[in-house]
Amino acid sequence: MPEDLPVPPGSGWPEDPATPATPVAADAAQVRTLAAEAARAGDLHELTARQSVCRACPRLVEWREQVAAVKRASSRTQRYWGRPVPGWGDDDARVLILGLAPAAHGGNRTGRIFTGDRSGDVLFASLHRCGLAALPTSTAAGDGQRLIGARMVAAVRCAPPVNKPAVTERDTCAPWLAAEFALVAHSVRVIVCLGGFAWQAAWPMLRSVGFAMPRPRPKFGHGSEVTLAAPAGMGSQVLLLGCYHPSQQNTFTGRVTPAMLDDVFARASRAAA
Ligand code: SF4
Repeated sequence: MPEDLPVPPGSGWPEDPATPATPVAADAAQVRTLAAEAARAGDLHELTARQSVCRACPRLVEWREQVAAVKRASSRTQRYWGRPVPGWGDDDARVLILGLAPAAHGGNRTGRIFTGDRSGDVLFASLHRCGLAALPTSTAAGDGQRLIGARMVAAVRCAPPVNKPAVTERDTCAPWLAAEFALVAHSVRVIVCLGGFAWQAAWPMLRSVGFAMPRPRPKFGHGSEVTLAAPAGMGSQVLLLGCYHPSQQNTFTGRVTPAMLDDVFARASRAAA
């Protein structure tokens, strides 16, 4: 029997936050409305449910579902998620990890960010060594993995072709990120940006909850640090940390190594403690 694609909301996929009644955003205006509603209601679970069924970017919807239908040879027997990856982790996180977008055969297959791909293998091993993840691996939703005082989000929640979202897609997805940050900012003390795209996405996210923007805007680099005074009601300050993305290309070429990731996440753990 052919599979339903993408996975129908509330049909039993582990960690699926949505139900058949979850409203679906069909364009950028609906993303803004649905994200703002969930943020106003203070409902992080509903926000992640709405993220996970979004269909606002036609090119990305087509791509993520095509990949889920065709699959790759080594995953041919597996069912693919084929939906956006929602924010995942601790609701009262002190460390927020901001990535670019799910991988076509990683998060787009498993339904959980950085799960089931080489980048995630390197990332979760480091998070575990630094006390931010319960297990050294993250292979599938429902595998028992758990973030400890941390939360993971993506600037763009659908897998893009060649890992490159368009500017309009980034902007369309931004309200999901802003709303999620608004709901966890009370506890967040450190934001780790994985790569330059995430670093750029962090500024509008911070501005959306009232952070003053430094001028000139600090440049991204591995180990870059910026301390930002928090707006009233959000603690005293937030530390923004830059980290090279643990992409296969970066790890194969040695541009980023496990030790380099450990340096950043150990720093994040200490600063958040
Ligand atoms: S990238 Fe974001 S806004 Fe676009 S369809 Fe996916 S979840 Fe929706």
